[in-house]
Amino acid sequence: MTAFAIFEAVALLQRRPVAVQALWDGDSSGWVISVQAVYAYGPSHGIEEVAHLRGSDGDLRIFNQAVPPWPETQIASEAGRLIEKHLEIPFFFPSPVEPESDCPDWWDRHLGKKCRTCSKLLLQEETLPWFGVCYFCHLKQRGADPKEAD
Ligand SMILES: [Zn+2]
Repeated sequence: MTAFAIFEAVALLQRRPVAVQALWDGDSSGWVISVQAVYAYGPSHGIEEVAHLRGSDGDLRIFNQAVPPWPETQIASEAGRLIEKHLEIPFFFPSPVEPESDCPDWWDRHLGKKCRTCSKLLLQEETLPWFGVCYFCHLKQRGADPKEAD
């Protein structure tokens, strides 16, 4: 899926979203970026997924310590630029460089706390072993051996 296709999908939505967010989700075959239209329903919010971006070789890049740029982040970021510029809808992509599953939804962003190392906005459970830093910074601090990381 191209950035322009995502932009078009948002432009063609029946209802104008209050924001568009791009959040990471991990599953058994790797990381995906879910691009979601955010709607306000009175005091609460709902989402509608408009795109699902999956990197070509999933998690292996973390485990090989190669950590090249995630190509799907560039597609999502470019789509966000188009959406903000042409539709004037805020685009929220709290982890635009690498995967992170503990970022807040757009409507919870005021509850987020920044990673102590890289300032990425996070909304973590306090029981998380690496509470206070993002998963990526946690791996780097540990020498990035994910076999030892939990
Ligand atoms: Zn971090």
